[in-house]
Amino acid sequence: MQSCKSTAFLFLIALSLLRSEITIAQKETFKWPEGKKTAISLSFDDARGSQATKGIPFLDQYNVKGTFYLVPSAAEKQLTGWKKAVASGHEIGNHSVNHPCSGNFAWARPNALEGYTLEKMKAELIDANNQIERMLGVKPEVFAYPCGGTFVGRGVNTKSYIPVVAELFLTGRGWLDEGPNDPAFCDFAQLTGMEMDGKDFEQILPLIQQARSGGQWLVLAGHEMGESGGQTTRLSMLKKLIEYAQDPANGIWLAPVGTVAKYIQTAKDEKKEVAVNKPETVRAAADGTYSLSAASGKATGPKIQFMPEWNAFGWFTAADRVEWDMDVSKGGTFDVTLEWSVSDEEAGKPFVLETGKSVIKGKTEKSGSWETFKSRQIGQIKLSPGKHKMVFRPDSKFEKGALLDLRGIKLSPAGK
Ligand SMILES: [Zn+2]
Repeated sequence: MQSCKSTAFLFLIALSLLRSEITIAQKETFKWPEGKKTAISLSFDDARGSQATKGIPFLDQYNVKGTFYLVPSAAEKQLTGWKKAVASGHEIGNHSVNHPCSGNFAWARPNALEGYTLEKMKAELIDANNQIERMLGVKPEVFAYPCGGTFVGRGVNTKSYIPVVAELFLTGRGWLDEGPNDPAFCDFAQLTGMEMDGKDFEQILPLIQQARSGGQWLVLAGHEMGESGGQTTRLSMLKKLIEYAQDPANGIWLAPVGTVAKYIQTAKDEKKEVAVNKPETVRAAADGTYSLSAASGKATGPKIQFMPEWNAFGWFTAADRVEWDMDVSKGGTFDVTLEWSVSDEEAGKPFVLETGKSVIKGKTEKSGSWETFKSRQIGQIKLSPGKHKMVFRPDSKFEKGALLDLRGIKLSPAGK
């Protein structure tokens, strides 16, 4: 009987661990800047003539920055245009010196990937970077695989050159891929690139919608820039795409490949840093706001828990509380915004935020679910310059359930 019981108990533990893992996996969401829902990068290969003569002036009209993967010998033919592109802020990438592709393309036979070695490839990619830097004064950080090929050699001697690209560049982009990149998962050395040549906006829109619904990063890839002809990204399509992307209602961040990659990198690094919460004195940001994040708060109480995957505190008993030490440089009245989540069943419990005599009382409003964090102003508070201890706690005893998940509290100077 005893062993039977403990087996059942272990099973329950295993089940609850499994459940919590599933919830965490589902909760893993990536946040684009400023509430955007997706990112799109416009990228163009080969330094085709029409890019410098037509495409870049066209993008400049809309103040949109693209990523251009150059073959140096082609770029030399439009040097003035490429210098202008750099000056107006477009990103310059590397597309190798000889554009090696599979020898199944007759034109690629003299530089067939099947005849390459990793050493030869590495030397060529470094050479292309040096040539571009001499020509335009910028060192490419991003690469696009010519023809999307990622292997050198043949048969048992075939080797992937993705590791070479990973070593030399921030990102490597493919070609003719089937879907956008998941920022939380993607390998920067294997970014997908989806074709935009020869397409109308109506054909591109479903890709954008797909990326937006998954919070993904769509890297579009093209060649010539004009209206007609083979391998041509239509300016009429780009016009519609840019107007669509620049409408704030559509939640799109349109930015070069390297810019988006660096944003993702920084967001991931910050997430690693807050994996364990480190209480520290909160000071004003440059705009005068104070961010009382879960990561910087000190928790006391029997059951309060910092949940790194949520960057929030979970609150389970009336005796749990979180404190922040603040150092206020400029006193005044502050708007106080709470960022929290709570299930509909648990919502409605009273809370208090207090420091000395200044108190804000409220009730946890429904956020939709434990997975949905909301931000809302809960009141105003007056603070004099100097040190303060800010406390967030429940305002009444509760027998079961939880108060809320608290991600943070923000104090911004009132009226700003
Ligand atoms: Zn190419």
